[in-house]
Amino acid sequence: MICHKCQKEAGPRDNYCRFCGAGLGNNKVAPWYNNILLIILLSVFFPVTAIPLIWRNTEFSPKTKKISIAACIIYMILLISIIAYIFFFHIGKHYLRIYGEL
Ligand SMILES: [Zn+2]
Repeated sequence: MICHKCQKEAGPRDNYCRFCGAGLGNNKVAPWYNNILLIILLSVFFPVTAIPLIWRNTEFSPKTKKISIAACIIYMILLISIIAYIFFFHIGKHYLRIYGEL
């Protein structure tokens, strides 16, 4: 069986193309991790969990994958920095109130 998407020869009993992941034969439904809305939601709230989905996605080109994974990592670092900043800012305020000026 020839894959309709990447034109490579897939095994006769394969449900998904082993080269590009496209559904074959009666199984042309895209895999769940191709859901773009899910990827966007995960990227916004839990960027770490979106990375494997982007990596496995069969509709993104390798370039798109690299850019979106890089964006996820940068966003994640930014998010952690903001949380850490707010956290230590509050701890610092409480510290000063309890122990006074150093
Ligand atoms: Zn294919």
